[in-house]
Amino acid sequence: MMVDAETLQADLRALVGAEHVRPATAADAIDGVPAQVVVEPGDAAEVAAVLRLARDAGLSVAPRGGGSKLGWGNPPRRVDLILSTRRLDRVVEHAWADMTATVQAGCTVAQLQRVLAEHGQRLALDPLWPATATIGGILATNDSGALRARFGTLRDLVLGVTIALPDGTLARSGGKVVKNVAGYDLPKLMTGALGTLGVITEATFRLYPLPSHVSCVRLSASEVSALHPVLLRVLDSTLAPSGVQLHARQGAAPALDLRFEGIAAALDAQLEQLARLAPGIASQPLAPEAWPTAEPLWDDADLALICKASVLPAQLDALVQTIRRVSAPLRLSWELLAQAAGVGWLRLAATNEQALLAALSILRAEVGRLHGSLAALHAPSAVKARLDVWGADESALPLMRRVKEQFDPQRVLNPGRFVGGI
Ligand SMILES: Cc1cc2nc3c(=O)[nH]c(=O)nc-3n(C[C@H](O)[C@H](O)[C@H](O)COP(=O)(O)OP(=O)(O)OC[C@H]3O[C@@H](n4cnc5c(N)ncnc54)[C@H](O)[C@@H]3O)c2cc1C
Repeated sequence: MMVDAETLQADLRALVGAEHVRPATAADAIDGVPAQVVVEPGDAAEVAAVLRLARDAGLSVAPRGGGSKLGWGNPPRRVDLILSTRRLDRVVEHAWADMTATVQAGCTVAQLQRVLAEHGQRLALDPLWPATATIGGILATNDSGALRARFGTLRDLVLGVTIALPDGTLARSGGKVVKNVAGYDLPKLMTGALGTLGVITEATFRLYPLPSHVSCVRLSASEVSALHPVLLRVLDSTLAPSGVQLHARQGAAPALDLRFEGIAAALDAQLEQLARLAPGIASQPLAPEAWPTAEPLWDDADLALICKASVLPAQLDALVQTIRRVSAPLRLSWELLAQAAGVGWLRLAATNEQALLAALSILRAEVGRLHGSLAALHAPSAVKARLDVWGADESALPLMRRVKEQFDPQRVLNPGRFVGGI
């Protein structure tokens, strides 16, 4: 730190009010890296002012929303300030006649959905832990969920963002665009940048109506190889499921879950068409409340490695066969929940860390041959210290570095967390 802790806290108190600045505690550490101070700005201008102060003082800043998954990504190189969006929790405008909403970054997904539901509308995505996940957090991590089968991902749903930059300016897409960020598609750039380019303070989304009826179906077979062709036929058909998830795990029968939304008569027709696309496959109704989420995959995750797996939908069966082949000799248990887009969560559990590291290394090479990737999100810290979390194709790295240089030349925001140590 280039300023002493007392001076820093006094400066921050002058910006946001004394009651919104406090020394960090052990509970604020990110991936084992201790933080110094937690600051809670009350509006976008204060967020920008805090960032400018941090930049001028040579401090690093980690934005924090619900704080539930701050351990994902690379461990930060350092954390001087935690900038909490807790007080930015308002739905600014629900323009229900236009089917758009503008919301502050610290509002939780669940709270936004409650407000939208008053006019029969919703943000059509289903991220993990909606009660704590914030709008800023899901944008920063591109957390869309299974509804992407029908509605696309966050990049398709976000219409605009306001971000605070480390030089203390506010940039707004669609309206006034500030300085050297002109020309970028800000919402798309911010989505998935893991808080390394700017602090999102507000976002505007396109909305969809809440469905009047929902029908969910579970198809089962003894092997993924029997269900996978059905998934591909569904994607290739005129059926319009809002969610499709393939669930496979070691030692259990796989399942293909489909979710349909709409008016009752249309749902019946869709289910009849589905039956024609899945001859000989057992099917049973699934209660909409039992629609599978990825959340149980994270239960008791201490000895597990949890990855985001991405392959083409056509390669999902090959992915499962590969996981099975690699896991058996290493005595790993595994579970995969994959969305129809080929993106999914893979949980690997072992009795020793070496087996996890070996499995990830072999699987990455094999998944690479399928033109896919595995990014490790959660791992025991001893394991994480010994692996490359992203394992990504680094051909885009020079471009990503140039973007970082434009937005955050002094490496204020979340240093080290992103691909290539950005
Ligand atoms: C790398 C990564 C990829 C993910 N991909 C998926 C996915 O594809 N599908 C899926 O279902 N789930 C995904 N998730 C899960 C998702 O993280 C959570 O549901 C949700 O983002 C947590 O919100 P939160 O408010 O608790 O964020 P936090 O845990 O507080 O923060 C998460 C990250 O966002 C940054 N951040 C928080 N608020 C802001 C803000 N206002 N401006 C800028 N940055 C901010 C933080 O610095 C941190 O890097 C992913 C998570 C990570 C880390």
